[in-house]
Amino acid sequence: MNFKSIANSFVCDVPVYEPGRPIEEVARELGLKPAGIIKLASNENALGPSPQAVAAMRAALPTAHLYPDGGAFYLRQALAKKLGVGMDNLIIGCGSNEIIEFLYHAFVAPGDEVVAGDRAFVIYKIMAQMFQARCVEVPFRGHTHDLNAMRAAITAKTKLVFVANPNNPTGTQVSNAALARFIRSLPPHVIGVLDEAYVEFLDDPPPSLEWALRRRVVVLRTFSKIVGLAGLRIGYGIAQPDCIALLQKVRQPFNVNAIALAGARAALGDTAHIRRTKAMTRQGLRYLYRELDRLNLEYVPSCANFVLVRVGEGDRVFQALQERGVIVRPMRGYKMPEWIRVTVGLPAANRRFARALAAALISVG
Ligand SMILES: *Cc1c(COP(=O)(O)O)cnc(C)c1O
Repeated sequence: MNFKSIANSFVCDVPVYEPGRPIEEVARELGLKPAGIIKLASNENALGPSPQAVAAMRAALPTAHLYPDGGAFYLRQALAKKLGVGMDNLIIGCGSNEIIEFLYHAFVAPGDEVVAGDRAFVIYKIMAQMFQARCVEVPFRGHTHDLNAMRAAITAKTKLVFVANPNNPTGTQVSNAALARFIRSLPPHVIGVLDEAYVEFLDDPPPSLEWALRRRVVVLRTFSKIVGLAGLRIGYGIAQPDCIALLQKVRQPFNVNAIALAGARAALGDTAHIRRTKAMTRQGLRYLYRELDRLNLEYVPSCANFVLVRVGEGDRVFQALQERGVIVRPMRGYKMPEWIRVTVGLPAANRRFARALAAALISVG
């Protein structure tokens, strides 16, 4: 009996998302001890979760038998205050990835189109297939979004256009002026989706909240990166109230769990942890650039907490690093087979990566 014969054909064709490999999985496969492995593969925060978030989550455990507040009142209240927006401008998701799905549910029908860069975050494209929409992939230019070409790719069928800023996996930021022009140029039937998963790492962020409050723009943010809560799965979207009301309709009543809500709310107030994360990231990037220069490797200067490095045979270097207990991300899935992406870690992890990379390059030859 095969289930494929009775499944929705568009589901059979959905490509599988390849996440960064978990430490335990690599340990089992290679017969290594988990403690000896470092993961620099998913842009997680090497400092760990905000300590204030951990305390708040502990405090939330005894009431875990109660359903969470599906409306996320207190988290939206805290976010509204911090961002200077209204509570009705905010929706909370099980990761910002879930909000991407809400956008498709609310706005994209079979046969519609979305526009995204060909080296932008792959989830936009995978999701398009799940909703029987066509993703028009616009080639990157100089490792970043080609906003003019993306504007030109918009048709009468286009519903969403995605700009990840900074982008994953390239780590690049589009210029604020170019982005402002792009947003102003969008026709009224198109929603500009600004994925700002790494925005907190920017020195000169765009005025994206002003756009979210006044234009057909949805801004996506997450607790997975700078505050170090990727394991909780919680993120948010910012847009005009009538857009948020539609997104609220398509979410499950309890899409975000109570522990995550408590942790995220506490993390918002932990500015010391955010400051430490930024400092560690900046310092780590400087160290990695120096080591990559010494190895004569090309890399893309990053505005986020990871860096894209041209190593030649990306898959083989990825394997060789893994055998040395260092997990990074191969970039074949982004059609960049010569590149790997490495997340900035703590100083000792960065040193270990640099040493392992030098040895891996020799072993791959
Ligand atoms: C990590 C990341 C996210 C965050 O996803 P979550 O579902 O919030 O964990 C979103 N967009 C991009 C581009 C990312 O790299």
